[in-house]
Amino acid sequence: MNWPHESNTGELDACFGNPHGANGHANPAWVSENVVALIPPYEMKFSWGPKVGHLLFHRKCRDAFGEALLEVKKLYGTQADIDAHRMNLTGGSFMYRLMRGSSTRMSIHSWAAAIDIDPQHNPFPAKWRPGFIPAEAAACFEKCGLIWRGAHGDDDPMHFQAVEHSYRG
Ligand SMILES: [Zn+2]
Repeated sequence: MNWPHESNTGELDACFGNPHGANGHANPAWVSENVVALIPPYEMKFSWGPKVGHLLFHRKCRDAFGEALLEVKKLYGTQADIDAHRMNLTGGSFMYRLMRGSSTRMSIHSWAAAIDIDPQHNPFPAKWRPGFIPAEAAACFEKCGLIWRGAHGDDDPMHFQAVEHSYRG
């Protein structure tokens, strides 16, 4: 799958459809046509506490995220080891909102094409360093064709997306 590039909102809308609805909300018709549930292959919880029943993604990229989480499960083998590496923690996937630090650009989460992992230990903006998401776990997502915003000295290490990104590094 070739993902659209994040610099071009038209490209995002062409691939994923236009999620924009009224009054700062996603268009409910777009949501019902495109946003689907993923039951994670291991136990996850939101970083603020509740257990994850399912994660929401765009239908075109749900399987890529599912495969990535399956790779994480294979990498660590047990729930205890996944938890020890904090790969069970998410800040969420589908969220209709502005990009952090922007008053005009919508976040890739608005197209349901991104997930945040362990935001408490992977702050924005920050460059990846030891103690953040383990490099071998981030590689599980990259192996499945997803883009990690902690690569190449980028500044959003919690964030993985099904959208191309130009690294400045
Ligand atoms: Zn994010």
